[in-house]
Amino acid sequence: MREQELKENLTNVEERVAAACKRAGRAREEVTLIAVSKTKPVEDLQVIYDAGIRSFGENKVQELTGKIPEMPNDIDWHLIGHLQRNKVKYIVDKVKLIHSVDSYRLAEEINIQAKKHGIVVPILIEVNAANEATKFGVKLEETLQLCEEISHLENVHIEGLMTIAPNVVVSEENRPIFNKIKALSVDIASKNLDNVDMRILSMGMTNDFEVAIEEGATHVRVGTAIFGERNYNI
Ligand SMILES: *Cc1c(COP(=O)(O)O)cnc(C)c1O
Repeated sequence: MREQELKENLTNVEERVAAACKRAGRAREEVTLIAVSKTKPVEDLQVIYDAGIRSFGENKVQELTGKIPEMPNDIDWHLIGHLQRNKVKYIVDKVKLIHSVDSYRLAEEINIQAKKHGIVVPILIEVNAANEATKFGVKLEETLQLCEEISHLENVHIEGLMTIAPNVVVSEENRPIFNKIKALSVDIASKNLDNVDMRILSMGMTNDFEVAIEEGATHVRVGTAIFGERNYNI
């Protein structure tokens, strides 16, 4: 029953992703669907894995490090939630991409830990596009400066921007936000900074991923539409 439900959810999301790509005149391969599996048991993740998904997103370090050894080893793990500096060491060599860098101090710690492993860690800068007091992320107008500062760190590589748009009822309301982030990424790309690429735009969640794709998202982070509602009380 549960397996069937998850498979149907995924098929539905895949269809919507494909349709949004088509509307935007984009190839389906330009968009990576990240299944956001936070709070969900590994049995659920395995169903989605078996259906072909290889990118999973988690927002807590402890949950992520607990799930990694339980799952097949060809998964790209994405850390999408707020990251504390003292936890960087647990994940720095285990994730494909850290989506949530919003300070120089955090990037500096990632750089230190990356150096220890002899690796370069790909990161995104999280932008608080709507300037919401409740959200993490750097302000739109401070993003370029942060990229410039981080560009001097040798063991981190900025791959693009990430944003969590406001929780709106009508997804169209977030279109200007996504559009602004896209424009910002084009602007930053034009500066040709060392260690900075703007090839990734991580934006769009269950409520607004189609609009995000239409506005240029390369990675959408979808939880509820695939796994169902989360229960934080268990
Ligand atoms: C939980 C979460 C998501 C997925 O949210 P849904 O609305 O369930 O799709 C995406 N991005 C981040 C950063 C999250 O924490």
